[in-house]
Amino acid sequence: MSTTKLPVPPEPLAAEVFDSHCHLDIMVGNRQASSGDPVAQAAQAAQASVESILDQARSVGVTRLVTIGYDLPSSRWNAEVAELHPDVYAGVAIHPNEAHASTPEVLAEIEALARLPHVRAVGETGLDYYRDWASKDDQHASFRAHIEIAKRTGKALVIHDREAHDDVLDVLADQGAPDVVVFHSFSGDAEMAARCVQAGYHMSFSGPVTYKNAGYLREAVALAPVELMLVETDAPYLPPTPHRGKPNAPYLIPLTLRCLAEVKGIDPGELATAISANGEAVFGTW
Ligand SMILES: [Zn+2]
Repeated sequence: MSTTKLPVPPEPLAAEVFDSHCHLDIMVGNRQASSGDPVAQAAQAAQASVESILDQARSVGVTRLVTIGYDLPSSRWNAEVAELHPDVYAGVAIHPNEAHASTPEVLAEIEALARLPHVRAVGETGLDYYRDWASKDDQHASFRAHIEIAKRTGKALVIHDREAHDDVLDVLADQGAPDVVVFHSFSGDAEMAARCVQAGYHMSFSGPVTYKNAGYLREAVALAPVELMLVETDAPYLPPTPHRGKPNAPYLIPLTLRCLAEVKGIDPGELATAISANGEAVFGTW
C-alpha cells in the first residue's frame, strides 16, 4: 500500500450522476507521469486500478464516467477500457498541446476509434493559448479536423479551451459546429457562458468552481441553464476544495456538484438527475 494521502470520500449523493471528463490512463499510470507533473505522480503512487476507481466512485453515487484521450496511444487505451467496462465511455482525440502530431494518418485512426460504439466523444480538442507546445497554426488545423470527425461520426465534440475563448467560438462558427459541443472544464465568465447558451453549447463544470477566487465561474454557473450543464473532475487534475494540491478522482464529483447546486439554488439530488439526463443527450444512451 502506498502512503499517499488521498482525499477522504465525500458524503454520497442522493441520486446517481456521472463524470463527463477524466483521464483514467493518467490516474492508473498507464503512462508514467513526468517529474513536472506532481499531481499525476501522486495519483499514480496511489496505485489505483480502473476497478478500484469505479468502485470508489459508485460508493458515492458516481456510477459512470467518460475517460478522455489526448494523443493516439491514450485514445486507443481509453477506447479499449470503455469496451471492457459497461459504465465507462471514451473520448478520442489529439490534444491541442500535441496538435503537431495530427497527421492525416493519425487523424484517420482517431476517426476509426471515434466510430466504436463505446466511444462517445471526439475530444479533447480545441485551442490552448496558455501553452505554446504546438503552434497556433497546427492547433487550428487540428481543431478543424476534429470538428469534421465529430460531424462525420455523429459524436459529441469535447473542447479544451484555455485562454482562447474568442478563437474557439470563431472556429466553431466558421467551420460549422457539430450537433453537440461540450466546453470541458468551462473556464469562462458569465459573458462567455451567455455566448455558449446562445449557440446551444454544453458547459461542463469542474473543481475550480469551488475555488474561493473563482467568483466569475460561479457567475457563469448562475447564468447557465441546467439543460446545458455537465459536471466533471478532469481527474487526476483540478480537485475541488478542500483538496487542492491532491490528486483528483471521480469519487470527488459530489463536492463540485453540491457547489453547482448551491449556486443554482437546486437540491443536489435533483441536479444530479438533471445532469444524468443531459449526459444521455450529449453522449448517447448509456
Ligand atoms: Zn482533460
